[in-house]
Amino acid sequence: MQVVLATHNAHKVAELRRILGPALDGLELVAYDGPEPVEDGDTFQANALIKARAASAHTGLPALADDSGICVDALGGAPGIHSARYAGTRNDTDNLELLLKNMAGVDDRAAQFACAAAFVVPADVAGAVPREFVELALWPGTIATERSGAEGFGYDPIFCPDGQSGTSAELTAGQKDSLSHRAQAFGAIMPTVRAQLLGKN
Ligand code: IMP
Repeated sequence: MQVVLATHNAHKVAELRRILGPALDGLELVAYDGPEPVEDGDTFQANALIKARAASAHTGLPALADDSGICVDALGGAPGIHSARYAGTRNDTDNLELLLKNMAGVDDRAAQFACAAAFVVPADVAGAVPREFVELALWPGTIATERSGAEGFGYDPIFCPDGQSGTSAELTAGQKDSLSHRAQAFGAIMPTVRAQLLGKN
């Protein structure tokens, strides 16, 4: 059976293919190239469900989606659900530089990456009504004072995960996959995906 992955972000697709590979248990992950919905939810969970619903409705397939971002305590949780458009340009470097600028001279540097993983089963597959599931995971850390590391994407060069000596851009892909908000959220939702589509955990 096919499952559509409702993201257009190539970095996230690559991470999710790595994370989900062993957990798919024979399910085939296919890319989504349909229209992108308006993400007008006010939580990560709401926006992940909006993306999964849109992909499922467009393809008729069960759909997985994520919504993620970085939440900084001293900025009242910003950029949060607005992380991808923080600087107004949808450019990762612009976003990261604006965050560093807004944190200049700030002592409390606590932050967390957040990821909501959503799974929608369309009515044709689920029975009378579609079924919807969502899981939220947080990855705590601090904001560095300057960028460091060349792995990962987005805010990785300025995010220092708790318990690590450097930024998440200094972790190998395998290390990031064993710790990240995205790995935790999809690790939490995959037993539901397997139970719904394959009848097993
Ligand atoms: P989304 O694609 O709407 O979920 O937006 C995610 C935003 O958060 C983008 O700006 C990403 O760069 C950022 N982001 C999410 N997860 C990560 C991560 O694992 N590392 C770095 N940045 C991330």
